[in-house]
Amino acid sequence: MKKLIIVTGLIILASCGAVKHKSAQPAGQQDLPARAAEERSGQLAGAPVGKQDDPAPASEAPASLAAAEDQDHLILATLWYQKSAEMRALYYQCFRTAEIALAENLAWAGRTKPAAVVLDIDETLLDNSPFQGWQVFEKKEYNDEDWLRWVELVRAEPLPGAVEFTRYADSLGVEVFYVSNRTVQEMGPTIANMSTLGFVNADSTHMFLKENTSSKVARRALIEKDYEIILLVGDNLADHNGLYEKRGPDNGYSAVDADRKLFGTRYIVLPNPMYGNWLNEIMRQSSGTTSREKLLRLLETF
Ligand SMILES: [Mg+2]
Repeated sequence: MKKLIIVTGLIILASCGAVKHKSAQPAGQQDLPARAAEERSGQLAGAPVGKQDDPAPASEAPASLAAAEDQDHLILATLWYQKSAEMRALYYQCFRTAEIALAENLAWAGRTKPAAVVLDIDETLLDNSPFQGWQVFEKKEYNDEDWLRWVELVRAEPLPGAVEFTRYADSLGVEVFYVSNRTVQEMGPTIANMSTLGFVNADSTHMFLKENTSSKVARRALIEKDYEIILLVGDNLADHNGLYEKRGPDNGYSAVDADRKLFGTRYIVLPNPMYGNWLNEIMRQSSGTTSREKLLRLLETF
């Protein structure tokens, strides 16, 4: 009898532990069913560590090594994005600068076509950092299937100053376009999410999503047939110019230096420490079997 009481007590304690663990999960995770372990086995340690605009070749490391790899390297960047007042201030600062630049560029008299502004969506207008947090909790690298499930939840929040900027541009008569590497299959939930939040022109005629290629050059050219793009806003330099799609051994530094007068005037760059071409490029250049190993080898120290 005494033995039975002890065993029952242990079972109750174990159950409480499980409940406590579940309640500590981030918002949104409860709606996403637990992933089978075998689904993770296809992920590669050599792949980029976050959501990617330009997927890397999936052949850099044995899958068996990646299966056990956590995503803890995303924690600090994600927390900064979610919790720092500095991040919030930077978004306000960027969109305020965007307003000033837009008004100045609009005043230029030499234009022959109507003016347009082109904005990226993810980590420019919509905050997907809960998806990054989910990756950490689930120990899963980015993959399209999980990303689609997040998008279909239609739960992304607007970034500080973003909705207001699109309304300001619209009030000046500047046509607002969205050029994003969300896929065309994600058009429905993306429009639903953005229109609910109050973004202007959240419709399929103003949204140029990814069909075959991550490059945004051809999609911007489509807009330029009828409009003059007077400002581009994004968290990835490839949102501004195709030149930045491939960075080269200097990480794109020389190209940025050459373009220095365009930042704050024609290009508005928002902060994203969690993922992007900046990270994909350096990860490809680094050696190692896990993301952590690759990242550590990239660090400069003394
Ligand atoms: Mg983006």
